[in-house]
Amino acid sequence: MRRPLIVGNWKLHCTVVEAIALADSIRVAVGDPGPREVVIAPPFTAIYAVRGVVCGTPIGLAAQDAHWEERGAFTGAISPGLLHDVGCRYAILGHSERREHFAENDAVIARKLRAVLAAGLAPILCVGERASEREQGRAQAVVAGQLASALAGLSPEALPGTSIAYEPVWAIGTGMAATAQDASAMADAIRRQLAATWGDAAASVRILYGGSVSPANAGEFLGRQSLDGALVGGASLNAHGFAAIVKAAP
Ligand code: PEP
Repeated sequence: MRRPLIVGNWKLHCTVVEAIALADSIRVAVGDPGPREVVIAPPFTAIYAVRGVVCGTPIGLAAQDAHWEERGAFTGAISPGLLHDVGCRYAILGHSERREHFAENDAVIARKLRAVLAAGLAPILCVGERASEREQGRAQAVVAGQLASALAGLSPEALPGTSIAYEPVWAIGTGMAATAQDASAMADAIRRQLAATWGDAAASVRILYGGSVSPANAGEFLGRQSLDGALVGGASLNAHGFAAIVKAAP
């Protein structure tokens, strides 16, 4: 049985004061999440302060990225160990905004994934096709390639701690979500691919959908058996909207 996972990605939003207020509003609005797991990903600068708000509550913390090395001459980078130290238990990796604006390729993402696992964090690996790739009928092939590169050589023991977020690039921040049918077809393809390599270990991997998830459409995605949760960007900045998405999960 996979526990539903709802992750709020705050992206480049919130000062420390704003982040504390938003985290506290989410804590109150979500209340007891029941069987669902709720995780928020503030910007790096606010993680420690938000930890003070969510510590001892059912809300967990994720980083929006992590570096592939633990320490050394990497100015500006934040290592998985430092993120673990500050209270994160998850790290979002390979987000399409990282791929696009920071030139992250599959090889970099694969290195980050291994470093994150080594530090005891659970990766949330983002994969997804661009609009042109879907139009060319290549969506599944693109996602399969991203998945294969990021996870190549992973041990069956490491796999279950990893979550996959299917996030079509054209659906992120556009208000144009994928259909629940397309999202769940992709989730099925992802699980088949994982099972082909890792066998039974694939059954415990959580597969999320992300891309313009809102309180209005969350039920359609979260009601699908093949989807185990959601990665929520814009709508996670509103505590009541985010709580409504959490409650839409079974
Ligand atoms: C995201 O940031 O991963 C995301 C899916 O954003 P949005 O919900 O705003 O589309």
